[in-house]
Amino acid sequence: MASLSLQHINKTYPNGFEAVKDFNLEIEDKEFIIFVGPSGCGKSTTLRMVAGLEEITSGVLKIGDRVVNDVEPKDRDIAMVFQNYALYPHMTVYDNMAFGLKLRKVPKDQIDKMVKEAAKILDLDKLLDRKPKALSGGQRQRVAMGRAIVRDPKVFLMDEPLSNLDAKLRVQMRIEISKLHQRLGATIIYVTHDQTEAMTLGTRIVVMKDGVVQQVDTPQNLYNYPDNLFVAGFIGSPQMNFMDAQVEVKGNDVKLVVGEFSIKLPADKAKKLIDGGYAGKTVTMGIRPENVYDSEEFIKSSPDTVIESKIRVYELLGAEVFLYFDVEGYNMTARVNPQTTARTGDTVRFALDATKIHVFDKETEKVIT
Ligand code: ATP
Repeated sequence: MASLSLQHINKTYPNGFEAVKDFNLEIEDKEFIIFVGPSGCGKSTTLRMVAGLEEITSGVLKIGDRVVNDVEPKDRDIAMVFQNYALYPHMTVYDNMAFGLKLRKVPKDQIDKMVKEAAKILDLDKLLDRKPKALSGGQRQRVAMGRAIVRDPKVFLMDEPLSNLDAKLRVQMRIEISKLHQRLGATIIYVTHDQTEAMTLGTRIVVMKDGVVQQVDTPQNLYNYPDNLFVAGFIGSPQMNFMDAQVEVKGNDVKLVVGEFSIKLPADKAKKLIDGGYAGKTVTMGIRPENVYDSEEFIKSSPDTVIESKIRVYELLGAEVFLYFDVEGYNMTARVNPQTTARTGDTVRFALDATKIHVFDKETEKVIT
């Protein structure tokens, strides 16, 4: 069993800086957990506390049923893969992978078996006699993974393991890591600031900001149901569009008014705003670029959510087009079909998919609907 339990974990560095505040997370066996967030939000500090490389100021850390706060890193049954994978340059791939096992005085034939098994999983079998300098970046990273795998740990901790690789290799290794997770059936905690890695690898993602967990959920749910403004803006590229809007209530109808435009909300969203007492108040409205349409057909079917603006920039990315424009001073992006006839300088009408509108409390920044 390789479950982990982080209960009210805090980290205050000796200089008084609170890097992690009241971190709570239950990780199940075989989960692939991603820590994501802007630079300095406490991702690495949390991972290093799990590894035992950083002391926990307060709180309880369990691996399986055992409290490990005071257990030495080497006795925690975890393996860590860093971005600087630091292989021993004078040793072959085989010896690099075998090194940790030799130190632990594992019998030679057993080491041989473990290294060869890991090499097979990672497709390194033909490279075992090579030295690191004769390997590509991706192959070196796989050796670093191999070193972790041979230890057969309960938990893998990975701190931006792909950040030193070029874009193409990152994609390849991302797929490798995903396959590895399935084959090993291991519990993995993975730190990254790369959204695509987070969204594609994680069974659940922990979004952090300023040492505080903002939301823990599946990639899909984080994207579709962000709990607050920060998560909504952080997850998704291009970013969600945000505008301040006045809540106008007439009977059961609710409109979000942005300058000269007003956008009618569907009944379920309208009810949440009325029940929450938001009539007449200013809220923050969010809509993802792919939920902003410029097609006549959509505009006809959604006449209550139409906005109009001049295209500032037209950007063709092959399979899709990004249209950048402003509405009442807010920068907006629409992600539309490449067949669009809209071009820079054109005045274009857009309709929003009202069922996909997010509304946030302007003060607390928490989601209302
Ligand atoms: P990045 O994505 O840039 O690696 P991160 O989210 O992993 O960032 P951490 O490395 O966990 O962030 O650092 C969290 C905060 O703690 C940062 O503001 C950092 O400056 C601070 N910090 C890290 N180590 C120490 C230390 N030894 N003493 C004081 N503050 C520290």
